[in-house]
Amino acid sequence: MIYLDNAATTSPKPQSVIRDVTNALKYYSANPGRGGHTPSIKAAEAVYKTRTAVKDLFRVSSEENVIFTSGCTHSLNTVIKGVLKKGDHVVISSMEHNAVLRPLHRLKEKGMIDYTIARVTPGDNDATVNAFRDAINSKTRLIVCTHASNVFGTILPVERICALAHAYGILFCLDAAQSAGVIPIDLSENAYDFVCCAGHKGLYGPTGIGLLLVNSDVLLDPLTEGGTGSDSVNPSMPDFYPDRLESGTLNITGICGLGAGIRFVNHHGIDKIYRHESRLIQRLYHELSSISDVELYTADPKTIPFAPVLSFNIKDCESEKVSEYLNRRYGVAVRAGLHCAPLAHRMMGTLDRGTVRIAPSIFTTDQEIQTLKIAIKNFSYNS
Ligand code: PLP
Repeated sequence: MIYLDNAATTSPKPQSVIRDVTNALKYYSANPGRGGHTPSIKAAEAVYKTRTAVKDLFRVSSEENVIFTSGCTHSLNTVIKGVLKKGDHVVISSMEHNAVLRPLHRLKEKGMIDYTIARVTPGDNDATVNAFRDAINSKTRLIVCTHASNVFGTILPVERICALAHAYGILFCLDAAQSAGVIPIDLSENAYDFVCCAGHKGLYGPTGIGLLLVNSDVLLDPLTEGGTGSDSVNPSMPDFYPDRLESGTLNITGICGLGAGIRFVNHHGIDKIYRHESRLIQRLYHELSSISDVELYTADPKTIPFAPVLSFNIKDCESEKVSEYLNRRYGVAVRAGLHCAPLAHRMMGTLDRGTVRIAPSIFTTDQEIQTLKIAIKNFSYNS
């Protein structure tokens, strides 16, 4: 199997992740922070070790501001529903994932909030920032913006959009689902108020683990309430992080696996990972440009910064048909369709049939990209 669906979740997982997940099941099957016995203390130490690794990777101000969630969707919901009050307005980009659009849309349907979609102009950051500026109004409380499109790889000018937000006294939340582990994020330099990450993509952890990094004094309302092992006499959730946002038994196996994933990323280096994956995408873009029936949607990735994700279609063909052919005939796993990002497709004119998406990882080889190219070249409408 040639796995090129790493924007969904990375696969394979590093051996060290598999080992640490197994060890967590074997040795840390206890509830951290809930008991004074040895297994509970060991579990708490393991959790703290990963919290510290996350803090160091993103240069978060303290371990307390590292919140473990079940994924980026959970993190984004926590910020959106934890910040917004009746009457608030939100600005998002035209490349947001449904993990942003749907919670906002629901709040809007309930008459709670309103939101505006700012149009991204790939390759023209001034136009993109101006679209955000135009979308802001006196009620805007939050801007949520993806770092990189999960469909087209477009990198958004998030530092500038964050500065714009702060100039208007607006909070800024970064959706780093596609960038964490691939593009550096340094909270000692970047003023993003909240950063939402998936633990199972570029950080190579198992599925079911995510991160919310808090870089602001704002105390979010918790999305879920329950036991934290702290301040238990209080019928309200604690007013301190991370406990305020971490109710219930933590996902110890996921957290230990994420810790190993982060050590794996540190070992290779984010810059090296980015260079490897983007070189493969540049190569593929170049190869696909020479196939007449292939439709590409972005500028040459050599000319513009992008996240290592590439979308294409074959003329007059459903994207699902192409992905089914690649899987059946060549054992190539890619994703087709809308990738949970209808806004991005509407913007690029691909809402009707979606796209075929290629996303390499550090494990992807030149040979695998070569096989993919041959497979696409050999595609015929009767395949
Ligand atoms: N945001 C973006 C840009 C994504 O690509 C994804 C997942 O593909 C998500 C959010 C949701 O992440 P998760 O699956 O970890 O909840």
